[in-house]
Amino acid sequence: MTAYYAQDYLDLETLAEIWPELGPDVLILGRGSNILFQDGIRELSIVVWEKNDHPIVIKEVEDKVVALVDAGMSLPGLLRWCAGHGFSGTERMAGIPGSVGGAIAMNAGSYGVEAGDILSSVTVWTPESGIMELETDGLNFGYRTFKITSAPGPFIVLKACFIFEKDDPWAVRSRIKEFYNRKKSAQPILENTAGCVFKNPDGFDPAGFLLEQAGFRGKTKGGVCFSDKHANFLVNKGNGSSQAALELITEAREAVLRIFGASLELEVRVV
Ligand SMILES: Cc1cc2nc3c(=O)[nH]c(=O)nc-3n(C[C@H](O)[C@H](O)[C@H](O)COP(=O)(O)OP(=O)(O)OC[C@H]3O[C@@H](n4cnc5c(N)ncnc54)[C@H](O)[C@@H]3O)c2cc1C
Repeated sequence: MTAYYAQDYLDLETLAEIWPELGPDVLILGRGSNILFQDGIRELSIVVWEKNDHPIVIKEVEDKVVALVDAGMSLPGLLRWCAGHGFSGTERMAGIPGSVGGAIAMNAGSYGVEAGDILSSVTVWTPESGIMELETDGLNFGYRTFKITSAPGPFIVLKACFIFEKDDPWAVRSRIKEFYNRKKSAQPILENTAGCVFKNPDGFDPAGFLLEQAGFRGKTKGGVCFSDKHANFLVNKGNGSSQAALELITEAREAVLRIFGASLELEVRVV
């Protein structure tokens, strides 16, 4: 495995030089919270953007602020920063682990708010064009996807400008708490999972409901099980293998297609 940890903009120049040696399938890794790594030893090139300075408020207009946030910051860390400053916008994302860069790349969301909804620009690096700052009209956010309209190839999210509304810090903190507790009571967020396994299919009930109806809630194989709390989460009970997880995924997909005619697409990224 080759791993390159970029901590500052100068490192991106080195990255541009070594990029061709990394091979065709470079994994840009955030904090790995949405990734199911396959068992065994494989040749893999990983790049991690680690820059994680404190967010900076760059603009204030009436009741709104624009804050510049490094993609290497943790998303829970950003929520804590917002709570401390009384900036509202991220509260519904409480309980989502990972980095800010990962949240943007996945357009992560919860309870009706997605990362793309609260951004005004994203700065990315691509091997062909280097650093580019893109306003939202150059960004293509979809359901758990983010694409750059002008550059279809690989990219690293470096930083982004978020738009927050000014509020009382206590009110922001209490909403974060409320949404965190809501998520904790409905999803196994304190167990070993990689988040939702499948996206909710268009035109059908949510994936978790279909999986439950198909009998997969609690279904276990080799130390991995579909959660009792929420059937769209696979939980590693401690000794689970990704082989077992992938077998359960295949069985669940086949059953849901057979019973409901719904084709489930993976949300978790298998690497
Ligand atoms: C308990 C739990 C609960 C979760 N709940 C939710 C939820 O409610 N809603 C939700 O949307 N997700 C949820 N997730 C999934 C996951 O936390 C999010 O997708 C998260 O935003 C991924 O961030 P990460 O840094 O861990 O990214 P990773 O898992 O490391 O990577 C995910 C994807 O993003 C890409 N990526 C990561 N960083 C960058 C970067 N800097 N530049 C370019 N690409 C990058 C990777 O290449 C990969 O394709 C949950 C996960 C867990 C474990």
